[in-house]
Amino acid sequence: MRSATDRSLIYLDYNASTPLDRRVLEAMTPFFEQDFGNPHSQHALGKVAAAALERARAMVADLIGARARSIVFTSGATESNNTALRAMWASAAGGRQRLVVSATEHKSVLEGAGAIAGAEVVVAPVDQYGVIQLEALKELLAVPTAGVSVLLANNETGVLNPVREVVEVAHSHGAAVHSDTTQAVGKIPVDLTDLGVDFASVSGHKMYGPKGVGALFVRDTRSFTPWLFGGGQERGLRAGTVNVPGVVGLGHAAAVWDPATREKELVQRMWQQLCAHAAPLEWIGGTADRLPNTLNVRFPGADAEAVLANAPRLAISTGSACTSSVPMPSHVLLAMGLANAAAEECIRISVGRPTTEADVNAAAELLIRSVAIVRQLADGPCMQSTSESAISI
Ligand code: PMP
Repeated sequence: MRSATDRSLIYLDYNASTPLDRRVLEAMTPFFEQDFGNPHSQHALGKVAAAALERARAMVADLIGARARSIVFTSGATESNNTALRAMWASAAGGRQRLVVSATEHKSVLEGAGAIAGAEVVVAPVDQYGVIQLEALKELLAVPTAGVSVLLANNETGVLNPVREVVEVAHSHGAAVHSDTTQAVGKIPVDLTDLGVDFASVSGHKMYGPKGVGALFVRDTRSFTPWLFGGGQERGLRAGTVNVPGVVGLGHAAAVWDPATREKELVQRMWQQLCAHAAPLEWIGGTADRLPNTLNVRFPGADAEAVLANAPRLAISTGSACTSSVPMPSHVLLAMGLANAAAEECIRISVGRPTTEADVNAAAELLIRSVAIVRQLADGPCMQSTSESAISI
């Protein structure tokens, strides 16, 4: 079992998680130790924690073009997504039962919407690039709808949705809009005022902050229906003692964000090397507007699980989402029109702040070699298509 301390491991899975920025860790540390107070306590230690929460709230709000009072701290984007969907549904005027979610949403939106008893969940189709189809959305909105959920950047392909246009269409039909901005915040500039969404989700660990903490942007907190009830924390919008060190970390992760990045060049470098030595190949969603750090690449004839099994030094993802340890083709890729077999040939590479050119070169070399081996084995006379058979030979 390799660990992150294994220096030979090349980590190119920054869409799955990012390491904590050292400055963020330093800002968090006092809140585990001397400043451990409960922000709801009225004594001096409580006030230190409460003040830190408000500073963090302002930092997060600043990064995403929001007002501080619109930021509600949560346990991460999964909670933010679930809460937003419930809030849109519960607060909708005129008994609107319908929620429209785009086909390439994260499972926490798809499953979260499906879990709302009484909601009618409708999936809006995407085109071959994974971009929501606005005309189809308009047709779906002909039925009175409580809310629409459309993610800004897809976690598997990096493809961006036209969220501002979605907002225009949805609002003109009286539906609220939630955008899961988890993958975009911290990778590209995000301005929620400009996008015009009613709700948005953010996660600490996707932006060099800690895991288990996130934020929900709520444009109008007066008409918000909370999901968690209890001690009245977060002005009654989300009960539960706030994870103070985590929130301080989230705030500092937002504050230290620097848009200047070499990620686009690194991804381009990877793509060029793969093109030169691992053709045929296909950049999934390649010509759409995308996050600069993501390359979802298909190697026809090479099962992705087998490719990764033959390159154990690489920490990257296949296009498969594992549910109950059974690999299933990615619902994102299937929604984009890929056949099951094609979806199983896709690999997601996502670079991050620590990624170097040397990492990219070494990873490209390993991938090129592994793809060649897997293709050769697949062409062999009695090859099976399981990754097990690929490794054991
Ligand atoms: N939405 C998207 C687009 C994501 O990529 C993720 C993380 N994989 C989540 C939501 C869930 O975030 P968290 O881990 O903070 O619950």
